Amino acid sequence: MANREFPLEKTRNIGIVAHIDAGKTTTTERILYYTGKIHKIGETHDGASQMDWMEQEQERGITITSAATTAQWKENRINIIDTPGHVDFTVEVERSLRVLDGAVVVLDAQSGVEPQTENVWRQATTYGVPRIVFINKMDKIGANFDYSVGTIADRLQANPLPVQMPIGAEDNFEGVIDLIEMKADLYDEDELGSKWDVVDVPDEYKEDAQARRDQMIEALADVDEDIMDKYLEGEEISNDELRAAIRKATLNLDVFPVFAGSAFKNKGVQMMLDGVNDYLPSPLDVKPYNATDPETGEEVELKADDSAPFAGLAFKIATDPFVGRLTFLRVYRGTLESGSYVLNSTKGKRERVGRLLQMHSNQRKEISEVFSGDIAAAIGLKNTTTGDSLTDPKTPLILESMEFPEPVIQVSVEPKSKADQDKMDVALQKLAEEDPTFKAETNPETGETLIAGMGELHLDIIVDRMKREFNVEASVGAPQVAYRETFTKTVQAQGKFVRQSGGKGQYGDVWVEFTPNEEGKGFEFEDAIVGGVVPREYIPSVE
Ligand code: GDP
Repeated sequence: MANREFPLEKTRNIGIVAHIDAGKTTTTERILYYTGKIHKIGETHDGASQMDWMEQEQERGITITSAATTAQWKENRINIIDTPGHVDFTVEVERSLRVLDGAVVVLDAQSGVEPQTENVWRQATTYGVPRIVFINKMDKIGANFDYSVGTIADRLQANPLPVQMPIGAEDNFEGVIDLIEMKADLYDEDELGSKWDVVDVPDEYKEDAQARRDQMIEALADVDEDIMDKYLEGEEISNDELRAAIRKATLNLDVFPVFAGSAFKNKGVQMMLDGVNDYLPSPLDVKPYNATDPETGEEVELKADDSAPFAGLAFKIATDPFVGRLTFLRVYRGTLESGSYVLNSTKGKRERVGRLLQMHSNQRKEISEVFSGDIAAAIGLKNTTTGDSLTDPKTPLILESMEFPEPVIQVSVEPKSKADQDKMDVALQKLAEEDPTFKAETNPETGETLIAGMGELHLDIIVDRMKREFNVEASVGAPQVAYRETFTKTVQAQGKFVRQSGGKGQYGDVWVEFTPNEEGKGFEFEDAIVGGVVPREYIPSVE
């Protein structure tokens, strides 16, 4: 067995999450540029973007797929698991949160926390995902770092820990001050952000920076006893000690380190990447994934260990224009080798892994094995769908699986000709295999084909893909939404969910987002999204 290229403690599996338009795509692109894999910066909306592979994503300017891209920053391997920013794809976000260990939350410096940030934040909290925050668009008119930090406390009831302060804002945004090192990073506009000077904190910022540094240490002392002791004794706290304490507090979800920058103007992205290395967890820092032995019913903790029997989770099926069907998987334990057989223990089928690929932004690297904690794409798994457990054939295990909510919206699609009908049947089957929240069925009375998904945009994209990838000409009926409502008040509900997954529970066909209340007797719904293709009177008693 070959040696792993990156030790586990130097691996980061992260997602970049944001409200739509906060700059997730631009930030991701800059990350890929600075990590050396892209040699040209493409703009998100002119068709040259690297993460938005699908044409329609570029047209719409949003990121939908949940592929994984591998990059390297300094000593670390960073796997970036793409997460969608649109509310229709909340379930995709949830699925990515399952396989990532930490996240970068991108905020727009003018708007701060926005509705979709709140949703994703809540989901990340449910899965216990440590986060750092990147306050982007510091160059934009109306950019306000302190206001944005304030929205983290107010709207998310979380504990932001600014570890930087911006130098200037809007047109005068020049760089950032590192409050740990007490140095300023000043950017050279002409060098596309690849060059910056590390200088002493300019005089006019000294007092403010010192006050913010003190605040940072006080906030850390609140959650860290060692820091508290030293702080009270007036003892010197070294910068390494500070970083170690911030890391510990971040992994505990006690604090959320905050960075400032402008992805568009190429400022601050590198320091935020240092933050990924310094503060976000390696696979060794997170709670081991749980699995069940299907024969004995025994619970097994999947501790990262390259020589233990292989166990992994398929988290995304994608169709690649060059190599066909790709199964993105995360290895939790053991090593997966190309050419080997695995058991899909969810479906009870043995399958052969043909080739293994690691996706870099501008190349696919063929690899012979994937080690625990890492992510790769497998070619050749024909029967595997999203959420399936893959294990060593001799050691079958079922990994805690993902649950998918029922579709909330439905439209009819009518093929233009018989030939289109045949192509459509193939297309719908393929698309449903890739996407567990998409369903296609035939109305037994009228014979018409109905497709159902998580929102209008979701179904638009399905219809677009049928046309583009499968050449299907079809006309589409009006969307039918039986019920969808947003609660704005806190209500309590007694009773039981039929199924439960993360922060969601199912009543009949209706899914709600909930938090259990303190007594454990009911649930609280706050700004909950309720959806389901069901008549209104069926909505459960949530009062
Ligand atoms: P996403 O929807 O979160 O992926 O956001 P995008 O990366 O597509 O960015 C949305 C818009 O904001 C685009 O027009 C970007 O050019 C712009 N944008 C992104 N980052 C910045 C930034 O740092 N400053 C400014 N002024 N605009 C930005």
